[in-house]
Amino acid sequence: MALPDPREDLALREGYHSPQVEVAVRLNTNESPFPPPQGWVDDLRAELAGMAFHRYPDRHAKDLRAALAGLHGVRPEQVFCANGSNEVLQSLCLAYGGPGRSVATFEPTYALHSHIAHLTGTAVVQGDRRPDFTVDTSTAADLMAATRPAVTFLCSPNNPTGMADDAATVRAVLAAAPGLVVVDEAYGQFADWSALSLVGDTEALAVTRTFSKTWSMAAVRLGYLVGPVEVVAALERVALPYHLDALKQAAGRLAVRRVAEMEQRVGLIVRERQRLLGAMAAMAVTVWPSQANFVLFRPETRKGAEVWQGLLEHSVLVRDTSSWPGLAGCLRVTVGAPAENDTFLSALDEVLAGTPA
Ligand code: PMP
Repeated sequence: MALPDPREDLALREGYHSPQVEVAVRLNTNESPFPPPQGWVDDLRAELAGMAFHRYPDRHAKDLRAALAGLHGVRPEQVFCANGSNEVLQSLCLAYGGPGRSVATFEPTYALHSHIAHLTGTAVVQGDRRPDFTVDTSTAADLMAATRPAVTFLCSPNNPTGMADDAATVRAVLAAAPGLVVVDEAYGQFADWSALSLVGDTEALAVTRTFSKTWSMAAVRLGYLVGPVEVVAALERVALPYHLDALKQAAGRLAVRRVAEMEQRVGLIVRERQRLLGAMAAMAVTVWPSQANFVLFRPETRKGAEVWQGLLEHSVLVRDTSSWPGLAGCLRVTVGAPAENDTFLSALDEVLAGTPA
């Protein structure tokens, strides 16, 4: 008997996956190059020893939300936690999107905003960024007026281009948006300014963050949103019961005690980012400014895909964005540990010196 067909529209959607190959230097998925602090691992181990595994976890993740609320100076009812910020984005689309509704994105940007919207049956309206990849607020206002999106996504710093939106941009988009504005700040700690300062119960604004990058906890899968109480309540309505396991709740709560260690790592990455930007400026590549833990660049003497392959032959894996709309020929490199960045820079130098395309 033939198996039933899944939804037809799924066939149209390609996954968003970077190849997972064995390499010495992995600079393709914007993780932290550093493991979490040993003290955090010890705390988690102690917590694990006393965990009531036979019971469901705290459905409201009270302690974790209180810890995050304390971190950001908001109330726990303004915090929603989920399995990675991708699940936060999915919850947003489930709660505010769906058939007959749309979300707006400004391309090129994080591919999962559109992907998740499609999966939840939400239409996507795409505006373009300026050639320098910033959002033009008057183009954005026109798009929003014409299409009335239920959710408008900003991404700051923007993945994969690297620049952050300033306060004026976020304020202008917020003023013109007919629905909710979501600023995805997966890389927010690396930037100079955060839209968290604009969040309040009467603003249609929410900010999403993750433990995957700055907190060195990509394996834990924990992300959250800070926004109006009403938005958090709507997200709770679409979350599955007990979606956030007890281990994850403990891992996040214990991590928040270690802000100083996290900030130290962020400082090191930011210094390394500036070093990479400086070194790459002297090479045959166009480099875009970055406020994130990655750098977008376009080789000028060889094709992007060839440089990606050449780097792989040096056991350095970066993200090949060269075939993505609006990013012809571009590659994205995650800022790694100092030695990894050295390896990347010398490999890039050698690959660029190879035969021109
Ligand atoms: N938003 C952006 C802009 C990202 O780049 C990523 C990770 N690639 C995420 C959200 C998702 O992060 P996570 O689900 O690991 O929290």
